[in-house]
Amino acid sequence: MDSRARNRTTAERDVDSVLHPYTNLIRHQEVGPLVITHGKGVKVFDEAGRDYFEGLAGLWCTSLGWGEERLVEAAAAQMRKLPFYHLFSHKTHDPAVELCERLLAMAPVPMSKVFLAGSGSEANDTALKLIRYRAHALGQPNKIKVIARDKAYHGVTVATAALTGLPNNHRSFGLPVDEVIRAACPHHYRFARPDESEEAYSSRLATELEAQILKEGPDTVAAFFAEPVMGAGGVIVPPAGYFPKIQAVLDKYDVLLVADEVICGFGRTGKMFGTETFGIRPDMMTLAKGLSSGYAPISALMVNQRVYGPVAEESGRIGVFGHGYTYGGHPVSAAVAVETLKIYAERDILAQVNAVAPVLQDGLAAFRGHPLVGETRGVGLIGAVELVADKASKAPFDAALGIGARVVAKAQAHGVILRAMGDTVAFAPPLIISAEEIRDLLRRFGQALDEAHGEITRA
Ligand code: PMP
Repeated sequence: MDSRARNRTTAERDVDSVLHPYTNLIRHQEVGPLVITHGKGVKVFDEAGRDYFEGLAGLWCTSLGWGEERLVEAAAAQMRKLPFYHLFSHKTHDPAVELCERLLAMAPVPMSKVFLAGSGSEANDTALKLIRYRAHALGQPNKIKVIARDKAYHGVTVATAALTGLPNNHRSFGLPVDEVIRAACPHHYRFARPDESEEAYSSRLATELEAQILKEGPDTVAAFFAEPVMGAGGVIVPPAGYFPKIQAVLDKYDVLLVADEVICGFGRTGKMFGTETFGIRPDMMTLAKGLSSGYAPISALMVNQRVYGPVAEESGRIGVFGHGYTYGGHPVSAAVAVETLKIYAERDILAQVNAVAPVLQDGLAAFRGHPLVGETRGVGLIGAVELVADKASKAPFDAALGIGARVVAKAQAHGVILRAMGDTVAFAPPLIISAEEIRDLLRRFGQALDEAHGEITRA
């Protein structure tokens, strides 16, 4: 750091040097960043020493919270021993093998092999490439269209952003691409017909999906991507019966199911995988975030024999499976992930989640009476509060009011970091959070709601 840099704050230097993801870059120049310096348990601290509950576990990832020394030690030990090696062209190393073995042993349905990558986007991108490769292997080169749902989030590479079903990820990027078919978002509160039960709504969505597949031509449709609980689209918990009904349609037309477990995996929904919570039988599963508790960048794609078999055959035929990332299965990340999985098992993370989940879910449900709140929803340790202008008609607020962002800003002033997706405020705290901490966090959120309500009724 030169002397000029020493005299300027981190915030000032940030504004001059960092291009921020998911940020209004012009506004950032005016407001600057919140500088986070360290964390402990479920809290992070800013440079003024103020503490904040991390209500979203960072980006839905820091399941074990901050300051887990065992993960620090695992990383340091691996760095000393073998800081880098790769898995290309018949090479391997212990941490990658141990991680893949553990994941296969944990898989909720029989899986054959695990591909390691660096991020959720890369894992989903790899799933897409395997789908295409497999189609060629099977002599069905046209069976490469993929279905993804409105409001889905599957990543931000060119291909996975096309799967993502959110306007901000398409606008001005020239997306989506042609091979993506958009299916309905299964949000009962928003999109069911009046008096339509959850089961009836699920049946209708399955019928609509079947019609879409028939319209496209079943011999052109390869796969359906789905998050068990849709995260960034607004924490949308599927209606009763949804996945079994959808799965029956997919099976009928030989369409693979890819479960994007990037958020739901590793206990978030109360079972080890969202797949188990909602009765899904995936052919592929993508994992990231909780895989290393966010301590190191790593993701995994598990594939069953239906996928692996033809892919392996094809690589034998043409000479190579021509895909892989320099940092895929990075030994330090893999070692951290292995240690994370050990901790989940030793501390029985599922028992912990299920012990405190009712405190979060009942606490969120208690906000249903609040004048700003239309719906609360969730499962396990993921949940959301959707704000509406009119509870009876479910009419949203005028977007210009930015009510979601306002509530989140007020919550931050009360020491809680949350995220608004439009006017839905999401909750996904570290899985180690205690009942007492959840109550404290929700009490502060309630203050933020009341203040925002006061402000808009005065205006
Ligand atoms: N899938 C889901 C369900 C996600 O929530 C995310 C990230 N929020 C991704 C994929 C993409 O992961 P990454 O940001 O690591 O590329």
